[in-house]
Amino acid sequence: MQTMCKCKKGTNCYALLTPLFYSDLGRIQTFNLLSRNQVRYSVAPRGLLFFLKQNKTHLFRGANIFLFTFIQKYFQKNMLDLEDYIRIVTDFPKRGVVFKDITPLLGNKDASALCLEKLVELVADQQIDKVVGIESRGFFFGMLLAQKLNAGFVPVRKPGKLPFDTLKEPYQLEYGMDVLEIHEDSIQKGDRILIHDDVLATGGTAKAACNLVEKLGGKIVQCNFIMNLDFLNGRSKLKRYPVASVLTY
Ligand code: AMP
Repeated sequence: MQTMCKCKKGTNCYALLTPLFYSDLGRIQTFNLLSRNQVRYSVAPRGLLFFLKQNKTHLFRGANIFLFTFIQKYFQKNMLDLEDYIRIVTDFPKRGVVFKDITPLLGNKDASALCLEKLVELVADQQIDKVVGIESRGFFFGMLLAQKLNAGFVPVRKPGKLPFDTLKEPYQLEYGMDVLEIHEDSIQKGDRILIHDDVLATGGTAKAACNLVEKLGGKIVQCNFIMNLDFLNGRSKLKRYPVASVLTY
């Protein structure tokens, strides 16, 4: 029998009620299962049956709307193309460099959530004790990754930024040298480490971070990036470690 919706706001209210309704139904069923022998017929299931009979059309519609909204939201998020959120800036910071700018990605909540999900997926079910993020763009997702992986976060920074005792590692830049530092007490012997940065280019920066971690006795589980500029062959410097990235150029 089809009944008219008695709710002034129309059928949508049933869509909102549906999860609530099902959880109540679940509880009542559990209650009945537990006490089947003692309570054969309770008031609650009788009321529920009546409610079901009167409102089955709307409940069915409500459940459909609920399911549809959920599926729509799921696909909307997963159909995002993360490359659309990487801005290409030519000749920055100097002539000839094609800079991959992640600020549009950081500024969009769905894109950044999807990026984080994908970075976590790269690690799969490997246990991580500490995520080592490389200054400065490795800090954004590095800390989020650490939270998701139930791990600590360790910053690797440019010289003079860390206040306590540091270990230093010089590394080669395109022109000249630079240095990275890590706090000496930040990693314990045997800690399982995930190295994270936004971009893998020639690999010198990530390799210097790996050297620092290994000098402190850490074990590198993966080097993990948002982007790998594969044509610059950064992987060749990280041959001893698993390398993974969300995007490859
Ligand atoms: P490399 O040591 O050559 O692998 O350079 C990696 C570091 O430089 C990372 O910390 C990046 O943030 C930065 N980097 C290098 N190339 C680019 C690029 N094309 N776009 C954005 N960041 C870059």
